[in-house]
Amino acid sequence: MAINIAIDGPSGAGKSTMARAAAKALGYVYVDTGALYRSVGVHVLRQGLDTANAADVVRALATAQVSLRYAGGEQKVFLGSEDVSEAIRRPEASMAASNVSAVPEVRAFLFDLQKDLARENDCVMDGRDIGTVVLPEADVKIFLTASAEERARRRFEELTEKGNEVDYETILAEIRQRDYNDSNRAIAPLKPAEDSVRVDTTGLSLEEATGLILDVILSKLTNGE
Ligand code: C5P
Repeated sequence: MAINIAIDGPSGAGKSTMARAAAKALGYVYVDTGALYRSVGVHVLRQGLDTANAADVVRALATAQVSLRYAGGEQKVFLGSEDVSEAIRRPEASMAASNVSAVPEVRAFLFDLQKDLARENDCVMDGRDIGTVVLPEADVKIFLTASAEERARRRFEELTEKGNEVDYETILAEIRQRDYNDSNRAIAPLKPAEDSVRVDTTGLSLEEATGLILDVILSKLTNGE
């Protein structure tokens, strides 16, 4: 049986950076499920359709061909034959992903893909509903949080470093909006699994937070506690 580690939490808590680092240290595959929702969002935008309109999203889903491939341990996301790993990181893809993720057909569409990856690989999978819905039997479940202000500051720095012109207040407002959307949607809302370990990374450096997460994973895997 493959070993599955589920890491959930709100936008910008550092899940992907920490999950990637943990997967690397453990020699497991890293699966970034947010990238899947982002790619569906980008596909809907490219069809000229409205990501906030469920009927539009379902229509676009019929032609969405999403797949993950791994090159040198790095996850790449494809729409058909196009590598969209960069395109899905643009700011407009974030809200598009949040919008499409509330549509049940989108979640059902991506569910099997996530399940198959987890069945076939020892993996660290990060998202919003991994410990609660996708992998309720995961060997370790972590719920990562940090204050909205800290998450906005991290996102601001990340986007600025990549040369995007962004405004901190706008990012903070978007993070709050996405938190609200993700926590209040009817289907698979963001909430900690009852058997998850909660880790708050506010005030911790990435190295400190990653070290903490690895400790949690290793002690669960070795002692079951
Ligand atoms: O993690 P990331 O910010 O890339 O995710 C983008 C959006 O995809 C989130 O705001 C959330 O709405 C959605 N998502 C989800 N379930 C997941 C992963 C992401 O609903 N497992």
